[in-house]
Amino acid sequence: MTVTEDSRVTAVVSAPVAKSLEKARGVVRVGDLLELVPRAYLNPGRLSAFSELREGEHAVVVARVAEAKTRPMRQKRKTMLTAVLRDEQGATLDLTFFSAWGHVDKLLPGRVGVFSGTVSVFNRRLQLAHPEYEMLEHDAGDASDEVVSRFAEHLMPVYPVTGGVTSPKLRRLVQHAFEQLERIREPLPAEVRLRRGLLGREAALRRVHAPRLDDDLDEARRRLRYDEAFVLQTILAQRRARTEALAATSRVATPGGLRDAFDARLPFELTPGQVAVGEEIEADLARPRPMHRLLQGEVGSGKTVIALRAMLTVVDAGGQAALLAPTEVLAAQHARSLRLLLGDLAEAGMLGGSAIGTRVELLTGSQPAAVRRRVLNDVVTGDAGIVVGTHALIQQHVAFHDLALVVVDEQHRFGVEQRDALREKASAPPHLLVMTATPIPRTVAMTVFGDMETSTLRELPRGRSPITTHVVDAARESWVRRTWERVAEEVAAGHQAYVVCPKIGDDGPPDGEEELDEAPADDDLPPEGPDEGPRPLTGVLEMAERLAAEPALAGLRIAVLHGRMDPDTKDAVMRAFGAGELDVLVATTVIEVGVDVPNASVMVVVDADRFGISQLHQLRGRVGRGAVPGLCLLLTTAPPDGPTGERLKAVEATTDGFELARRDLQLRREGDVLGARQSGGRSSVRFLRMGHRDDETLIEQAREDATAVVARDPGLRTHPDLAARVAARLDEEQAAYLERG
Ligand code: ADP
Ligand code: MG
Repeated sequence: MTVTEDSRVTAVVSAPVAKSLEKARGVVRVGDLLELVPRAYLNPGRLSAFSELREGEHAVVVARVAEAKTRPMRQKRKTMLTAVLRDEQGATLDLTFFSAWGHVDKLLPGRVGVFSGTVSVFNRRLQLAHPEYEMLEHDAGDASDEVVSRFAEHLMPVYPVTGGVTSPKLRRLVQHAFEQLERIREPLPAEVRLRRGLLGREAALRRVHAPRLDDDLDEARRRLRYDEAFVLQTILAQRRARTEALAATSRVATPGGLRDAFDARLPFELTPGQVAVGEEIEADLARPRPMHRLLQGEVGSGKTVIALRAMLTVVDAGGQAALLAPTEVLAAQHARSLRLLLGDLAEAGMLGGSAIGTRVELLTGSQPAAVRRRVLNDVVTGDAGIVVGTHALIQQHVAFHDLALVVVDEQHRFGVEQRDALREKASAPPHLLVMTATPIPRTVAMTVFGDMETSTLRELPRGRSPITTHVVDAARESWVRRTWERVAEEVAAGHQAYVVCPKIGDDGPPDGEEELDEAPADDDLPPEGPDEGPRPLTGVLEMAERLAAEPALAGLRIAVLHGRMDPDTKDAVMRAFGAGELDVLVATTVIEVGVDVPNASVMVVVDADRFGISQLHQLRGRVGRGAVPGLCLLLTTAPPDGPTGERLKAVEATTDGFELARRDLQLRREGDVLGARQSGGRSSVRFLRMGHRDDETLIEQAREDATAVVARDPGLRTHPDLAARVAARLDEEQAAYLERG
């Protein structure tokens, strides 16, 4: 059977090795193996310096054998071999083999080889215990002509150890895969390759795995990045083309209707940004094609008002709108604030309600059956023009009279699959508006959200106050005490405080509310640096007890909020906090998005190192929402110069969400190179550097090229290699989606 890039990797490696590779790096197909690129290269002509070796680390060195000794082992009938490698500075590295057999005639003094193994220290000397190695010179035992000439002319790739598979072994597996493959696909049309000055894919792959001494590696890497961008952009271009081909109902606001009535009573003037985005949306809604728009804007930039105006537009035109929130708490809050904004315009059919008005209904899983039945009925008859709920609203069997617009607040988990589910809700696909407060750098906007149009609100409405952030060393008792004193001072000045903890702390399962509510999910957390030992996290319940006993906070009204409380209690707590009947709210990240209490002026984040950059940024947006300046204190015991410290410092240094998002991506990228944790994900990008400006340009070019290709040949019939790579990529995404559940 011929081996292709789509063949399972077991076609070229043994089953156990395949399993390790899949687990560690998501390698499933032969093509994935080719995309495991080396993390570094050694020049076999240059001896490595041992001063750079660190105990416990997997090292690959080019070194000369200084001496080799054998001695019999006491108990066994074997002979032990110890060789000593010496570098140019005279430092030594011992090699030990518990059986000399097969090694004595290779490890000859004076010979150079490549050695790899885990560095340990024995008798205060650096050593590699039974390393893997390959001698690079002729008369050194096994070095064949092929090996010798290869090493005379090539750099030695060093792969990250992957699921126990060592660098030399990976190198052999990759070379074996190259030999087995009949051909390597070339997804890029020749014309594009020429115009962009790109290497062929095969040349690029061969070059990164076995570069000749004078090869330009950057050129090869650039091609692979482009390749990845191009395949992704082809998928997105196809998706856009499909959406463009769908028919949707055009929705235009009635002059003098609900939308106009709402505008007339707005207590403030829309910012120029709100006006511009509003016009973009109106234009989209008026087209007989489904809108697919991403609206990004900092917390408090006024997205909700924009969304509401869009919803009123479709209601004017006889349709319904659904607003989806990530948690029930937020859904309830949205319903409340929409009703507040609408006033009697939301009281259709009620005494005193406006004649042109509509109704805003909340639909959640935890409502009493009778309420739910009534709401479902209003939804199906169309009496409820606006329906607010969690994502369950589109997953469950909720029937609408005429669903015209879906607004999703916070894009977090709203992927292509959910969008597909949506289409089935309505006779014609509804218009879609996704809102996010997490600023999305252009690279991500063009890839992850590349099938959507984007609108951005860059200014905050006037009257917003600045937020100051400080990292507080939680190991210093006096600083922690001072933190609580600051909280007390804010309360004494008539304000309120949030204390955010990474978990609930009642030993129950993780806080379950839509899974968004607990400490960051694995994939939101940067890889653990060496400075992060396993340390118990502070729970909300424990923290609340501690604060109740804190002298500085004596007499303050403290309450807790987390996802496992029953909805009525949660609601009551939020309401009490909003009404100023509570001083301090100790909470999980339930308060991350949307919670709006302008009187809250200070937030303390406990174990701040457990949160990602964007999450911290999101969290602190809960303060400084009114006239009072916001203060955010990040408690941590993480050392300031580790990767975690870097993250917190970035959050401290700027409140520019776009800048933070870019820093976040850059820091994560670092993690990709260093740790297995982030790099494991299938379907994550492998070559593109998402925080990087060069790659932004490259993605733009790929987008342009891919769009042109798809426009000419939507089914990619004349581009079989591209079609195959697109299919493989979609397959991966599907698998990753199923794994995530
Ligand atoms: P977001 O959803 O982007 O976080 P919101 O729409 O909830 O922001 O707006 C935050 C607050 O600012 C709300 O109280 C809202 O009424 C108010 N707001 C929105 N737009 C304006 C504006 N143009 N001028 C003054 N206040 C505004
Ligand atoms: Mg909002």
